[in-house]
Amino acid sequence: MKKILLMTLTLFTGISFAKLNIFTCEPEWAALATEIGKDKIKAFSATHGKQDPHFIQARPSLIAKIRKADLLVCTGAELEIGWLPLLLRKSANKKILSGQSGNFIATSFVKLLDKPTRIDRSQGDVHASGNPHVQSDPRRMAEIAKKLSERMQQLDADNAEFYQQNTKEFLSQWNESIKKWQKQAKVLKGRKIIAHHKSWIYLSNWLDMDIIAYLEPKPGVPPTADHLSKLIKIAKNNKVDMIIFAAYQNPKSAKWLNKRTDIPAVELPFTIGGTKNASDLFGLIDDTINRMVEVVR
Ligand SMILES: [Zn+2]
Repeated sequence: MKKILLMTLTLFTGISFAKLNIFTCEPEWAALATEIGKDKIKAFSATHGKQDPHFIQARPSLIAKIRKADLLVCTGAELEIGWLPLLLRKSANKKILSGQSGNFIATSFVKLLDKPTRIDRSQGDVHASGNPHVQSDPRRMAEIAKKLSERMQQLDADNAEFYQQNTKEFLSQWNESIKKWQKQAKVLKGRKIIAHHKSWIYLSNWLDMDIIAYLEPKPGVPPTADHLSKLIKIAKNNKVDMIIFAAYQNPKSAKWLNKRTDIPAVELPFTIGGTKNASDLFGLIDDTINRMVEVVR
Protein backbone atom coordinates (compact mmCIF):
# COMPACT_ATOMS: atom_id res chain seq x y z
CA MET A 1 0.00 0.00 0.00
CA LYS A 2 2.75 2.40 1.01
CA LYS A 3 4.57 1.59 -2.20
CA ILE A 4 1.51 2.30 -4.31
CA LEU A 5 1.04 5.59 -2.49
CA LEU A 6 4.63 6.57 -3.14
CA MET A 7 4.35 5.62 -6.79
CA THR A 8 1.19 7.67 -7.16
CA LEU A 9 2.83 10.62 -5.45
CA THR A 10 5.82 10.30 -7.75
CA LEU A 11 3.53 10.21 -10.76
CA PHE A 12 1.63 13.31 -9.78
CA THR A 13 4.40 15.43 -8.37
CA GLY A 14 7.35 14.23 -10.41
CA ILE A 15 9.29 13.88 -7.18
CA SER A 16 11.32 10.74 -6.86
CA PHE A 17 11.60 9.51 -3.30
CA ALA A 18 14.38 7.03 -3.67
CA LYS A 19 17.39 9.27 -3.88
CA LEU A 20 20.71 7.54 -4.34
CA ASN A 21 22.13 7.48 -0.83
CA ILE A 22 25.87 8.16 -0.90
CA PHE A 23 28.14 7.80 2.10
CA THR A 24 31.51 9.45 1.52
CA CYS A 25 34.56 9.39 3.74
CA GLU A 26 35.77 12.91 2.91
CA PRO A 27 33.97 16.13 1.90
CA GLU A 28 35.60 16.31 -1.55
CA TRP A 29 33.76 13.13 -2.59
CA ALA A 30 30.43 14.38 -1.29
CA ALA A 31 31.04 17.55 -3.31
CA LEU A 32 31.96 15.60 -6.43
CA ALA A 33 28.95 13.29 -6.12
CA THR A 34 26.76 16.37 -5.74
CA GLU A 35 28.16 17.95 -8.90
CA ILE A 36 27.13 14.78 -10.74
CA GLY A 37 23.91 13.90 -8.97
CA LYS A 38 22.59 17.29 -7.82
CA ASP A 39 19.14 16.84 -6.23
CA LYS A 40 18.80 13.21 -7.27
CA ILE A 41 21.21 12.06 -4.60
CA LYS A 42 21.78 12.45 -0.90
CA ALA A 43 25.49 12.72 -0.08
CA PHE A 44 26.91 12.56 3.41
CA SER A 45 30.53 12.95 4.49
CA ALA A 46 31.93 11.09 7.49
CA THR A 47 34.55 13.79 8.05
CA HIS A 48 34.55 17.58 7.71
CA GLY A 49 37.17 20.07 6.61
CA LYS A 50 38.59 20.67 10.07
CA GLN A 51 39.06 16.98 10.82
CA ASP A 52 42.07 14.80 10.16
CA PRO A 53 40.73 12.09 7.83
CA HIS A 54 43.52 9.69 8.89
CA PHE A 55 42.05 9.42 12.36
CA ILE A 56 38.40 9.57 13.30
CA GLN A 57 36.19 7.56 15.62
CA ALA A 58 33.83 4.96 14.14
CA ARG A 59 30.94 6.58 16.01
CA PRO A 60 27.46 4.94 16.24
CA SER A 61 25.96 7.85 14.27
CA LEU A 62 28.31 6.97 11.38
CA ILE A 63 27.35 3.32 11.56
CA ALA A 64 23.69 4.29 11.29
CA LYS A 65 24.46 6.38 8.19
CA ILE A 66 26.64 3.82 6.44
CA ARG A 67 24.04 1.13 7.03
CA LYS A 68 21.60 2.92 4.72
CA ALA A 69 24.09 3.75 1.96
CA ASP A 70 23.65 2.61 -1.65
CA LEU A 71 27.12 3.78 -2.53
CA LEU A 72 30.30 4.27 -0.54
CA VAL A 73 32.83 6.78 -1.91
CA CYS A 74 36.17 6.96 -0.14
CA THR A 75 39.76 7.95 -0.93
CA GLY A 76 41.33 4.59 -0.19
CA ALA A 77 45.09 3.97 -0.44
CA GLU A 78 44.99 3.33 3.29
CA LEU A 79 43.87 6.84 4.21
CA GLU A 80 40.90 5.48 6.16
CA ILE A 81 42.59 2.26 7.27
CA GLY A 82 42.20 3.21 10.95
CA TRP A 83 38.40 3.53 10.87
CA LEU A 84 36.66 2.46 7.66
CA PRO A 85 37.12 -1.34 7.99
CA LEU A 86 35.47 -1.22 11.40
CA LEU A 87 32.61 0.94 10.07
CA LEU A 88 32.07 -1.45 7.17
CA ARG A 89 32.03 -4.44 9.46
CA LYS A 90 29.50 -2.83 11.77
CA SER A 91 27.35 -1.60 8.90
CA ALA A 92 26.28 -5.12 7.87
CA ASN A 93 25.58 -3.49 4.48
CA LYS A 94 26.60 -5.97 1.79
CA LYS A 95 25.97 -3.51 -1.07
CA ILE A 96 28.97 -1.37 -0.23
CA LEU A 97 31.58 -3.99 0.59
CA SER A 98 34.78 -4.21 -1.42
CA GLY A 99 34.18 -5.76 -4.82
CA GLN A 100 30.50 -4.68 -4.93
CA SER A 101 29.22 -1.98 -7.28
CA GLY A 102 28.32 0.11 -4.24
CA ASN A 103 31.97 0.37 -3.27
CA PHE A 104 33.90 3.17 -5.01
CA ILE A 105 37.51 3.80 -4.00
CA ALA A 106 38.69 6.99 -5.71
CA THR A 107 42.43 6.36 -5.66
CA SER A 108 42.04 3.08 -7.50
CA PHE A 109 41.14 5.03 -10.64
CA VAL A 110 44.22 7.28 -10.85
CA LYS A 111 47.96 6.86 -10.89
CA LEU A 112 49.34 7.32 -7.41
CA LEU A 113 52.62 8.99 -6.56
CA ASP A 114 55.04 8.13 -3.83
CA LYS A 115 54.58 4.38 -3.83
CA PRO A 116 57.18 3.08 -1.39
CA THR A 117 59.49 0.45 -2.80
CA ARG A 118 59.89 -1.04 0.63
CA ILE A 119 57.41 -0.90 3.50
CA ASP A 120 59.18 -0.02 6.65
CA ARG A 121 56.89 1.07 9.47
CA SER A 122 59.85 2.63 11.29
CA GLN A 123 59.62 5.30 8.60
CA GLY A 124 56.35 6.47 10.15
CA ASP A 125 52.79 6.12 8.99
CA VAL A 126 53.69 5.31 5.39
CA HIS A 127 50.83 4.77 2.96
CA ALA A 128 51.82 1.47 1.38
CA SER A 129 49.75 1.80 -1.80
CA GLY A 130 51.01 5.28 -2.56
CA ASN A 131 50.07 8.75 -1.41
CA PRO A 132 46.27 9.00 -0.99
CA HIS A 133 45.90 12.81 -0.99
CA VAL A 134 44.85 13.18 -4.63
CA GLN A 135 42.18 15.87 -4.25
CA SER A 136 44.60 18.76 -4.75
CA ASP A 137 45.26 17.73 -8.36
CA PRO A 138 42.26 18.75 -10.49
CA ARG A 139 43.45 16.57 -13.40
CA ARG A 140 43.12 13.48 -11.24
CA MET A 141 39.80 14.76 -9.93
CA ALA A 142 38.54 14.93 -13.52
CA GLU A 143 39.45 11.28 -14.09
CA ILE A 144 37.73 10.27 -10.87
CA ALA A 145 34.65 12.34 -11.80
CA LYS A 146 34.18 10.31 -14.98
CA LYS A 147 34.48 7.01 -13.14
CA LEU A 148 32.20 8.07 -10.32
CA SER A 149 29.61 9.25 -12.81
CA GLU A 150 29.70 5.87 -14.58
CA ARG A 151 29.18 4.12 -11.27
CA MET A 152 26.26 6.35 -10.33
CA GLN A 153 24.68 5.73 -13.74
CA GLN A 154 25.06 2.03 -13.21
CA LEU A 155 23.47 2.10 -9.75
CA ASP A 156 20.67 4.48 -10.66
CA ALA A 157 19.80 3.77 -14.29
CA ASP A 158 16.63 5.90 -14.11
CA ASN A 159 18.73 9.02 -13.72
CA ALA A 160 21.68 7.94 -15.88
CA GLU A 161 21.10 10.59 -18.53
CA PHE A 162 20.81 13.30 -15.90
CA TYR A 163 24.13 12.24 -14.34
CA GLN A 164 25.76 12.09 -17.74
CA GLN A 165 24.66 15.59 -18.64
CA ASN A 166 25.77 17.06 -15.30
CA THR A 167 29.15 15.37 -15.60
CA LYS A 168 29.63 16.81 -19.06
CA GLU A 169 28.82 20.29 -17.82
CA PHE A 170 30.97 19.91 -14.74
CA LEU A 171 33.98 18.68 -16.71
CA SER A 172 33.81 21.42 -19.29
CA GLN A 173 33.73 24.05 -16.53
CA TRP A 174 36.42 22.20 -14.60
CA ASN A 175 38.77 21.95 -17.58
CA GLU A 176 38.34 25.66 -18.26
CA SER A 177 39.22 26.33 -14.64
CA ILE A 178 42.31 24.14 -14.86
CA LYS A 179 43.64 26.37 -17.63
CA LYS A 180 42.91 29.45 -15.54
CA TRP A 181 44.55 27.94 -12.44
CA GLN A 182 47.66 26.91 -14.33
CA LYS A 183 48.08 30.40 -15.71
CA GLN A 184 47.59 31.95 -12.30
CA ALA A 185 49.99 29.50 -10.65
CA LYS A 186 52.89 30.06 -13.05
CA VAL A 187 54.43 32.28 -10.40
CA LEU A 188 54.57 29.23 -8.09
CA LYS A 189 56.72 27.18 -10.41
CA GLY A 190 59.96 26.02 -8.82
CA ARG A 191 59.07 27.57 -5.46
CA LYS A 192 60.63 25.86 -2.47
CA ILE A 193 58.22 24.74 0.18
CA ILE A 194 58.17 23.17 3.60
CA ALA A 195 54.92 21.27 4.23
CA HIS A 196 53.43 20.00 7.46
CA HIS A 197 52.47 16.50 6.22
CA LYS A 198 52.88 14.71 2.91
CA SER A 199 49.48 16.10 1.89
CA TRP A 200 50.51 18.13 -1.12
CA ILE A 201 52.61 16.01 -3.43
CA TYR A 202 49.89 16.00 -6.09
CA LEU A 203 49.56 19.76 -5.87
CA SER A 204 53.31 20.28 -6.13
CA ASN A 205 53.50 17.75 -8.95
CA TRP A 206 50.75 19.58 -10.85
CA LEU A 207 52.13 23.08 -10.34
CA ASP A 208 55.77 22.10 -10.45
CA MET A 209 56.63 23.28 -6.95
CA ASP A 210 59.42 21.84 -4.86
CA ILE A 211 58.59 20.48 -1.40
CA ILE A 212 61.98 20.18 0.23
CA ALA A 213 61.10 19.25 3.81
CA TYR A 214 58.27 18.40 6.21
CA LEU A 215 57.34 19.68 9.66
CA GLU A 216 56.57 16.09 10.60
CA PRO A 217 59.83 14.21 11.22
CA LYS A 218 58.14 11.12 9.74
CA PRO A 219 54.71 10.92 8.07
CA GLY A 220 52.01 10.93 10.74
CA VAL A 221 54.47 11.70 13.54
CA PRO A 222 53.87 15.16 15.11
CA PRO A 223 56.67 17.73 14.76
CA THR A 224 59.32 17.64 17.48
CA ALA A 225 61.40 20.53 18.83
CA ASP A 226 64.56 18.83 17.65
CA HIS A 227 63.28 18.34 14.12
CA LEU A 228 61.92 21.88 13.91
CA SER A 229 65.22 23.41 14.91
CA LYS A 230 66.90 21.45 12.12
CA LEU A 231 64.36 22.94 9.73
CA ILE A 232 65.51 26.47 10.58
CA LYS A 233 68.87 25.63 9.05
CA ILE A 234 67.34 23.90 6.04
CA ALA A 235 65.03 26.86 5.46
CA LYS A 236 67.86 29.37 5.60
CA ASN A 237 70.16 27.37 3.34
CA ASN A 238 67.51 26.77 0.70
CA LYS A 239 65.68 30.07 0.37
CA VAL A 240 62.31 28.53 1.15
CA ASP A 241 59.32 30.50 -0.15
CA MET A 242 56.59 29.29 2.17
CA ILE A 243 55.51 26.84 4.84
CA ILE A 244 52.17 25.18 4.11
CA PHE A 245 49.80 23.33 6.39
CA ALA A 246 46.24 22.04 6.16
CA ALA A 247 43.36 23.80 7.92
CA TYR A 248 42.74 20.71 10.07
CA GLN A 249 46.32 20.65 11.33
CA ASN A 250 47.61 22.41 14.40
CA PRO A 251 49.24 25.62 13.07
CA LYS A 252 51.62 25.85 16.04
CA SER A 253 54.68 24.32 14.35
CA ALA A 254 54.26 26.27 11.11
CA LYS A 255 53.90 29.49 13.09
CA TRP A 256 56.90 28.62 15.23
CA LEU A 257 59.07 28.22 12.15
CA ASN A 258 57.60 31.36 10.60
CA LYS A 259 58.56 33.39 13.67
CA ARG A 260 62.15 32.22 13.50
CA THR A 261 62.69 32.40 9.75
CA ASP A 262 60.22 35.03 8.53
CA ILE A 263 59.07 32.58 5.86
CA PRO A 264 55.30 32.98 5.42
CA ALA A 265 53.17 30.20 6.91
CA VAL A 266 50.16 29.55 4.69
CA GLU A 267 47.07 27.69 5.80
CA LEU A 268 45.49 25.76 2.92
CA PRO A 269 41.95 24.34 2.89
CA PHE A 270 42.95 20.72 1.98
CA THR A 271 39.28 19.90 1.40
CA ILE A 272 35.81 21.42 1.21
CA GLY A 273 35.09 23.40 4.36
CA GLY A 274 38.75 23.75 5.32
CA THR A 275 38.42 27.48 4.69
CA LYS A 276 35.41 29.68 4.08
CA ASN A 277 36.11 30.06 0.37
CA ALA A 278 36.60 26.34 -0.17
CA SER A 279 32.87 25.77 -0.21
CA ASP A 280 32.89 23.59 -3.32
CA LEU A 281 35.49 21.90 -5.54
CA PHE A 282 36.12 25.04 -7.58
CA GLY A 283 36.51 27.09 -4.41
CA LEU A 284 38.89 24.50 -3.00
CA ILE A 285 41.44 24.88 -5.80
CA ASP A 286 40.78 28.62 -6.19
CA ASP A 287 41.49 29.29 -2.55
CA THR A 288 44.50 26.97 -2.44
CA ILE A 289 46.17 28.82 -5.31
CA ASN A 290 45.10 32.30 -4.19
CA ARG A 291 46.58 31.80 -0.75
CA MET A 292 49.94 30.67 -2.15
CA VAL A 293 50.16 33.27 -4.90
CA GLU A 294 49.45 36.01 -2.38
CA VAL A 295 52.62 35.35 -0.38
CA VAL A 296 55.08 35.02 -3.26
CA ARG A 297 54.31 38.40 -4.78
ZN1 LIG B 1 48.58 11.04 4.77
